[in-house]
Amino acid sequence: MAAYECPVCTYVYDETTGAPHEGFPAGTAWASVPDDWCCPDCGVREKIDFEPRGV
Ligand SMILES: [Zn+2]
Repeated sequence: MAAYECPVCTYVYDETTGAPHEGFPAGTAWASVPDDWCCPDCGVREKIDFEPRGV
C-alpha cells in the first residue's frame, strides 16, 4: 500500500495504518479519502496537495 506526505508539515497518511482519529480505519485507500480532507496536523493543506512518499 502507498503513503502520502503533507508538503508543509511532513504528516504522512499511510494506507496501511489509515487515520483512525480522522475516521479512516486501517487499510483505507487514499482514493477513499475525500478530496476536501485537510491535513490533521497543520490544517492548511488538502488531500490534493499531498505527495506520494517512498516507492
Ligand atoms: Zn500538514
